[in-house]
Amino acid sequence: MKLSLKIFLGICIPLIIALVLISNILIRKSFSNDIRDEKIRGIQEFHFMEENIENAFWQSTVSSEVIIKSYADYYKENGLYLIYYENGREIYTSNTLIDLEDSELLNVSENDVKTQNKTFKGEHFLVISTMLSNGSVLVYARNIDSIYHIRTDLMNLSIILIVSIVVIVAVIAYIIAKTLTNPLRKMQTEMGKLSKGNFDIHLKEGRSEVGSLAKSFNKMSEELKNRDEELLDLVNSKQEFIDNLSHEINTPLTTILGYTELLERADCTEEQKIRFLESIKKETLRIKNIHQNLLLLSYKKNADLEMKRIDSQEIFDNVRDTTKVKVAEHQIDLVITNRIKEFYGDPTLIVMCISNLVSNAIHASKDGSKIIVDSYEDSKNVYVKVIDEGQGISKENIEKIVEPFYRVDKARSRKNGGAGLGLAICTSIMKMHHGNMKIESEIGVGSTFYLEFPKNLQL
Ligand code: ADP
Repeated sequence: MKLSLKIFLGICIPLIIALVLISNILIRKSFSNDIRDEKIRGIQEFHFMEENIENAFWQSTVSSEVIIKSYADYYKENGLYLIYYENGREIYTSNTLIDLEDSELLNVSENDVKTQNKTFKGEHFLVISTMLSNGSVLVYARNIDSIYHIRTDLMNLSIILIVSIVVIVAVIAYIIAKTLTNPLRKMQTEMGKLSKGNFDIHLKEGRSEVGSLAKSFNKMSEELKNRDEELLDLVNSKQEFIDNLSHEINTPLTTILGYTELLERADCTEEQKIRFLESIKKETLRIKNIHQNLLLLSYKKNADLEMKRIDSQEIFDNVRDTTKVKVAEHQIDLVITNRIKEFYGDPTLIVMCISNLVSNAIHASKDGSKIIVDSYEDSKNVYVKVIDEGQGISKENIEKIVEPFYRVDKARSRKNGGAGLGLAICTSIMKMHHGNMKIESEIGVGSTFYLEFPKNLQL
């Protein structure tokens, strides 16, 4: 059964039952009160009449039938009737409708009064009887139709009232049921959309239970949407990674294959052979380099890290050592300023990260340029800045260069032996150290790479 129907019936059915019960009890109560009052009044009236008739029997010489008749005629106009019995035989009646033959009412003793409600041919009477001092039975009957009419009127009125109240309440219950269930219905529709992969959902929020349910629902769909987008990004970037990787490996392999075919030719001079072999070696080294870098990129389990406190001077000495060939080759003025005490992390990876940045700075700078490696610290972090005065990086490229295999100038980068993995590795190393890498750059002015290592890192 639908919730709206349940709410509707839940309001209407108890209301109908309550109204019918209450009106029934009230009508019954009022009816029995009326009957009781009528009886009290009737008995008082009957005693008064009985006394008068007894006196008249004593004082008058006319027959008892005549006396009764004169009283009966007098009261008849007010809906009061007298019936008179002698020796069980009806002597006189002022209403022929009333038939008391074999009735308990006639079986009455002196000083005893019997009362009954009786119906004759659809008319209702309060009937009272007693035995007079002469042994005859006097019966008094009062028409009480008006009490029954009042009860019928009350019943009709209560039916009209109940129907009106139920109609009004039914309309209100319908509106309430609809108002309460509408948000749930909407939620159900949106759930259907959600199950089909449409996460663009916004339900009206509120303070009620349904409103906060809508809030949670919105939050959940937002979360699912983000997850979906993340998943899509991941799938895309994985695919991109595989495409780039296959391209990066395919290029040197094609070159190697070409030189091998040339070497197979018989007309190659010794000098040519040496040149071809050198090229084959260079391309093979490139593949080896890519392989090593890929290993590094996947080397990201914290358990594999050799985390320790390292004297910062040791790190910077190693950086200088690693980059000295390139620095000399390009006559770079490499200035390293050590203003920190120590690093906390894996020394091999930290040296690799800073050296990578210095190496990139050398490739981006003109021969004879200056490159600064600056370092400083605050209470939370240790910072390293690698500043060059090279060609700079455009805004749109700044975000992309950290992606694996991305290179701004492919030909130039390839000439330097890069496969676009250096900055991806740096980013990965910084993540392993729960640190950060930021880039600021301006075309033609130079670039600054910021490394931020958290100090209180206890892995
Ligand atoms: P690669 O190994 O090819 O150098 P990286 O990931 O280290 O790859 O760098 C990606 C690209 O970012 C490089 O090809 C280069 O174009 C650009 N880049 C990196 N560092 C700098 C820099 N200091 N100045 C200008 N361009 C840079």
